[in-house]
Amino acid sequence: MKKDDYDSIVVGAGPAGCSAAKVMAKNKLNVLLLEKAPVVGSPLCCAEAVSLFFFSQHFDLNPKWISNLIHKVVLVSPESTRFNLFHPDCAVVLERKIFDKDLAISASSEGAEVNVNACVVGILKDKKNKVYGVKVKEDGKEIEYKAKMIICADGIESKTAKFAGVDTTLELNQVSSCAQYLLAGIEIVPDCVEFWVGKKLAPGGYAWIFPKGKDCANVGLGITPNLADGKKAKDFLDSFILKRFSKYSKVEMMSGGVPFFSRKSILVKDNLLLVGDAARLADPLSGAGIANAILSGKIAGEVTSEFIKKNHPQKYLKEYEKKFMGKRGRYLRFFSFCRKVFLKMSDSDYDSIVLFLKDYFGSKKVEKIDIIGLVKVILKQNPFLLRILKNVIW
Ligand SMILES: Cc1cc2nc3c(=O)[nH]c(=O)nc-3n(C[C@H](O)[C@H](O)[C@H](O)COP(=O)(O)OP(=O)(O)OC[C@H]3O[C@@H](n4cnc5c(N)ncnc54)[C@H](O)[C@@H]3O)c2cc1C
Repeated sequence: MKKDDYDSIVVGAGPAGCSAAKVMAKNKLNVLLLEKAPVVGSPLCCAEAVSLFFFSQHFDLNPKWISNLIHKVVLVSPESTRFNLFHPDCAVVLERKIFDKDLAISASSEGAEVNVNACVVGILKDKKNKVYGVKVKEDGKEIEYKAKMIICADGIESKTAKFAGVDTTLELNQVSSCAQYLLAGIEIVPDCVEFWVGKKLAPGGYAWIFPKGKDCANVGLGITPNLADGKKAKDFLDSFILKRFSKYSKVEMMSGGVPFFSRKSILVKDNLLLVGDAARLADPLSGAGIANAILSGKIAGEVTSEFIKKNHPQKYLKEYEKKFMGKRGRYLRFFSFCRKVFLKMSDSDYDSIVLFLKDYFGSKKVEKIDIIGLVKVILKQNPFLLRILKNVIW
């Protein structure tokens, strides 16, 4: 069975895919958004925190998307030193199951056709190896859809690009393996996120507590798999929960991976654009990927709209990579370097940094943080880090 031709097919209705589809539909392109799950936004594997600054630049603060506003951050070292930061406009913890679905609805309101239960299982290529569509398993049937452009927004699996011959393989140190519970009945400060570091606690990663209400939070932990001696993220998470909480109820359990940005991240291949996790655009230090997914989706949508409407040559599509890296490249490259340093640090290094931050900030209220500037201060004022820096290639 074959369907009509589209200007653009978007594979995956996460924040990246929905953002791309919405922009293209708004620009009057004929867009099809395909999602393999029966419900957009579910199942979800995310701690749902995003910077308030980014979020309010791109969206209104619709109360139904926001489960909590964060004003404080605590960083806990292996020796239990606590660094507290007061930041009035720090972050929001979203209700992503609602937010993602609303993004898909608004893409549809702009004119995109959205299909759930539609899993892309292959790619259509002509004799010259040019991709002209996708094969989809939809409601039990195999259907072929044709399009001039394919936007790969299918998350960490990134299968669509793989079908088209793009090497999206992740090395073990380029991914964080994560486990998370939604815990209820816990003692937390409701507007405060917690980060816990330590080689034994979370090798090559950290544990997080992102409150969703007064006694309920996304509590999770990510590790770098090749540093974990064969143990799973869930094993570390279960130990962390016993250490941190005296009582809790487990309401939801999820596990998944975060693909970090690296020099190997591919954003453009012929008439395919890779966005969000499919392009491996998560922040290599924090693992945050929502903002880059939305931004890359929007830019990919804008560039595709221009490409189709003005009939530009294919090389014009490189504009997507240029524009995205122009906005985020400096941060991603810098955090990629910081991650290499982080992975080489010992528990006593973590302790020293947390003590340094305590001293440096005192009990100041911080209005805005220049993360790159702060990391540079940490690197400069902690000479022991030079030992690590010497062994890390920029
Ligand atoms: C445990 C955990 C916690 C996290 N916490 C945070 C956080 O607090 N803040 C943050 O910024 N980031 C966080 N992230 C990262 C964040 O979730 C991702 O970076 C973000 O969801 C990427 O968006 P995306 O649209 O690229 O991909 P996704 O949100 O993964 O969406 C991809 C979509 O594609 C669909 N799909 C896949 N294959 C196919 C196919 N073949 N055909 C059709 N559809 C397909 C999937 O079903 C899915 O709906 C976390 C990740 C994990 C694993």
